[in-house]
Amino acid sequence: MTHRTDRGGKSSIDTLAVRGGEGGRHGYDAVTVPIVCTATYGFSGSQEIRDYFEGRTEREEYGRYGNPTVGVAEQKLAALDHAEDAVLFPSGMSAVTTLLWAMLKPGDHIVMTSDCYRRTRQFVTKFLSRFGIEHTLVPPGNYEALADAVRKSTRLFLAEAPTNPYLRVPDVARLAELRRAAPRSKLVIDSTLATPVNFRALDHGADLVVHSCTKYQGGHNDLLAGAVCGSGEMIAALRDARGLFGGMPDPHGAYLLVRGLKTLPVRMRRHNESALELARFLSQHPAVERVFYPGLPSHPDHDVARRQFDGFGGMISFLVKGGLNDASRFIDGVRLATVAPSMGGVETLIEQPALMSFYELSPEQRAEIGIFENLIRLSVGLEDVEDLRADLGRALDGVGESARERA
Ligand code: PLP
Repeated sequence: MTHRTDRGGKSSIDTLAVRGGEGGRHGYDAVTVPIVCTATYGFSGSQEIRDYFEGRTEREEYGRYGNPTVGVAEQKLAALDHAEDAVLFPSGMSAVTTLLWAMLKPGDHIVMTSDCYRRTRQFVTKFLSRFGIEHTLVPPGNYEALADAVRKSTRLFLAEAPTNPYLRVPDVARLAELRRAAPRSKLVIDSTLATPVNFRALDHGADLVVHSCTKYQGGHNDLLAGAVCGSGEMIAALRDARGLFGGMPDPHGAYLLVRGLKTLPVRMRRHNESALELARFLSQHPAVERVFYPGLPSHPDHDVARRQFDGFGGMISFLVKGGLNDASRFIDGVRLATVAPSMGGVETLIEQPALMSFYELSPEQRAEIGIFENLIRLSVGLEDVEDLRADLGRALDGVGESARERA
């Protein structure tokens, strides 16, 4: 698999992950990027200050505006997504909110799919709405509703590829086509779950790509970060907004991200392989009602995913037969996976959304937004897939047995 770089050459994603964005030699001849811990940067005198502000030299000025370790992470992210530039934030939500704040003004309208990350949705529907920024939520896969939602004031289309927890996959080229109905609008794709290894949304017509780097890109469940990738002009505007809002990432986190990104393609291939195998296993298990995984032909977006993605990802959602308590019994029986929110790290994580992200809602409210009580979300890690299969199988067999005993 080869990937076109923004320099017009061809470079494999593995090479981009290891070498991309690192330029020549690092300071002190270090092989790895140094962690530059400084709040500010010194000037030799007034002439150097003039040269800097008049654009004759490129350097850092103050820690809220830039940091060399953060800069390497940004350039590596840009290389991987085939973007001109990227800007890093202290979390995925910081990336999302800064982008929306920076791009929208009162009277503007945003169209987004109704299954976007719930915090993103909350920010748009509950927070931006207070400032006269309007929105329309459209169901995933309904391109007619999306076309109908477009107004003269539409400035932004926001979708995720894939979504969570049902792993819906929008046809991004089709969204890019629909966006033309509102010529001043931008198409933003949150591609956290795919990563640039499985999908490069800019190549399919998106204007900006968002990632929560907390997930696969960091990859080790040990850092929070977020990023936006796109054209030099748009990223420069977002970098200015970051300096204004103040959400600057820390150089230690940026270092961890650079280190994580170097192994992203190797890890993603393994996540893809193991998840596909486990999704097939789960779909055959008598204690499982239904599996949601875009790599299975039963998934509503299997064809789009096959066409668009280089891999189906490491997330699987499924329904355990029975209700809330049966799914909880299953979770409690699992030994190898850690019960925790989040995804994308080397450790397999498992959760029951009704008892985690959507705990505060009533069963009726959860049903209204399509969160089943017996839904399980699994982030398949890098443990041996046979060990994972045995563990999940044993826990599911336990649920089946207790259901038979109760019958
Ligand atoms: N986007 C998606 C698709 C997510 O799943 C998440 C978090 O789960 C975010 C954005 C927010 O990322 P973070 O937790 O790094 O703020």
